[in-house]
Amino acid sequence: MTTRTPLMAGNWKMNLNHLEAIAHVQKLAFALADKDYEAVEVAVLPPFTDLRSVQTLVDGDKLKIKYGAQDISAHDTGAYTGEISGPMLSKLKCTFVAVGHSERRQYHDETDEICNAKVKAAYRHGLTPILCIGEGLDIREAGQQIEYTLAQLDGGLKDLPAEQAESIVIAYEPVWAIGTGKVATPEDAQEVCGAIRGRLAELYSQELADKVRIQYGGSVKSGNVAAIMAQPDVDGALVGGAALDTDEFVKIVRFRD
Ligand code: PEP
Repeated sequence: MTTRTPLMAGNWKMNLNHLEAIAHVQKLAFALADKDYEAVEVAVLPPFTDLRSVQTLVDGDKLKIKYGAQDISAHDTGAYTGEISGPMLSKLKCTFVAVGHSERRQYHDETDEICNAKVKAAYRHGLTPILCIGEGLDIREAGQQIEYTLAQLDGGLKDLPAEQAESIVIAYEPVWAIGTGKVATPEDAQEVCGAIRGRLAELYSQELADKVRIQYGGSVKSGNVAAIMAQPDVDGALVGGAALDTDEFVKIVRFRD
């Protein structure tokens, strides 16, 4: 059976300026340095304006924290005012980029087609997409969470070759759990994450599905992370609010302690 290294990623959303980012990442690195946390991959997804500061810190101190962006343009260059391209992010040595976060889907009308184009843009420039999918409350109440989430997965991965899909990260984030304090039960998270892995096996192969990391996201905190991480198809967490509190994020990273 494939061993998947858990990925704990902090999505800062539109919080922390570039000076606050430096303080936060330094504190994080210091807190993680005294302990062997190599078995867990740690990443931060700061706002675009912080990426250069974070890069400088990580480069200079050889910190093991990875970083990435919260969004990417589907285009590589040109007249797209306000957008940030894959070449810009890879020049900043980003590892990851979130695609299709529910806040992008909700406030910026990002469709599955747009997410698919962004996933492909990420791969064109050596970035690993974290494709975010998950249902809203109405869909969950109608019991349609699996069909809905798998349709988003199909749309996001459309025509993506296996050589690329095998390194993608999928974040299952039920929208009703994001920033609400309502965390999915470990069983709810497993139900959908297991279905996502099953669909990856159908779309590609079981071998590929076994390699892909599937995160859960939605009000993850130090007090609930261990039970969620104990689920067989949950390979990490995408953490919003709790990632802004260094001590809390460190505890999440050290969920095994
Ligand atoms: C997120 O922003 O992806 C998220 C899961 O937020 P929170 O942890 O605050 O629910």
